Amino acid sequence: MLNLVFVGHIDHGKSTLICRLLYDTNSLPQEKIEEVKRTCEQLGRKFEFAYILDALEEEREKQITIDTTQIFFSWDGKDYCIIDAPGHKEFIKNMLTGATQSDVAILIVSAKEGMEEQTKRHAFLLKLLGIEKIIVVVNKMDLVNYENSVFEKTKEDILSYLSSLGITPYSVIPISAIKGENVVKNSEHMPWYKGKSLIEVLSEIEKEMEIKENQEFILPIQDVYEKNGKKVYVGNIAVGEVHVGEKVRVLPSEKETKVEKILIPEETEKARAPKAIGIVLESGTFSRGEIITKNKDLKTTTIIKANIFAISNFEEGEYDFCCSTQKIPCNVKIEEKIDIDSLEAIKENKLKNGDIGRVIITLEKPCVVSNFYKIPELGKFTLEKNSEVIAGGILL
Ligand code: GDP
Repeated sequence: MLNLVFVGHIDHGKSTLICRLLYDTNSLPQEKIEEVKRTCEQLGRKFEFAYILDALEEEREKQITIDTTQIFFSWDGKDYCIIDAPGHKEFIKNMLTGATQSDVAILIVSAKEGMEEQTKRHAFLLKLLGIEKIIVVVNKMDLVNYENSVFEKTKEDILSYLSSLGITPYSVIPISAIKGENVVKNSEHMPWYKGKSLIEVLSEIEKEMEIKENQEFILPIQDVYEKNGKKVYVGNIAVGEVHVGEKVRVLPSEKETKVEKILIPEETEKARAPKAIGIVLESGTFSRGEIITKNKDLKTTTIIKANIFAISNFEEGEYDFCCSTQKIPCNVKIEEKIDIDSLEAIKENKLKNGDIGRVIITLEKPCVVSNFYKIPELGKFTLEKNSEVIAGGILL
């Protein structure tokens, strides 16, 4: 499943694009469309796609048990989830603490208005949240006569701003959300555009992620017990697949060994994420918090730079760094606070509940971590004091 977030300046067409995507992938119930059309007629308003999203949102608000921040759809055998857009605190908190994960961000810029202040702020936020896969859609191409030159100019502006933030977008697509051009169907009006439609790009990203997923194996050790004089390491497979006889490394001790047995709990030849398994290794003795892996790039570290979200009042000092099954004492220094509204960085050595801070964490002993978007399980952490969570963060 690919998690998507849509951002952009107000009125540039976010809601319209989401609805168009749902409509063209046959994910909207026909009754809902009819109902909104009827309401528009009664009110004497022109029908707008965006009203469907409003109607869906109202419905979700009434049904409190349903997650208010997600919309699911499928296309061509692949599943997608649209999560609520940034801007408000709850969203930033969910993203920065790793509770919500967004694999791809779609940044919408209107071809008519061009890049605006909010476009820039949202791009900055994507950088802060570490979302690497960004698709820029230049919307409302119908309002500029589908001119290639307008698209090129808007593209140049946005690429230049994104590059100042160190972002290279995955692709830039000219679309008309309202007419459904280059969203799911291709456009007859823009023959100069030789690239893919939005859904084709999303499908390509999903395929790339599947391939990556199969290459690695990561098992954080949760528990260790003994069976017939052999140690059995238990945990949930975080990533990938493992077979009996395969070579693995255990971190942070850096020992190499082989898989002797896999138990789920009966013996089996192979297992894959997200299964909970027991594993018997040929040699070595390990403990809770260590990581068994086939991934060759995984490394240990004692110094971490991260963005955190404070859940209580947060001061510099000693904490427990908790990541997956690892719990390690650490010292935290705050480099700066980021103002959520202006997104300016301010020199500060304290954070209040709800503040975002850039911090440097020095660990007492080596820890295995990863970029959140590469391996979420090893990329999100909490800072705790006496087992109380004071802040959450992701590693970028
Ligand atoms: P949001 O604030 O970003 O969610 O923007 P909306 O989706 O509500 O769209 C704002 C206005 O722009 C609405 O009146 C839409 O009908 C209009 N709009 C959105 N996409 C397009 C488009 O591709 N072409 C044209 N002509 N209008 C659009």
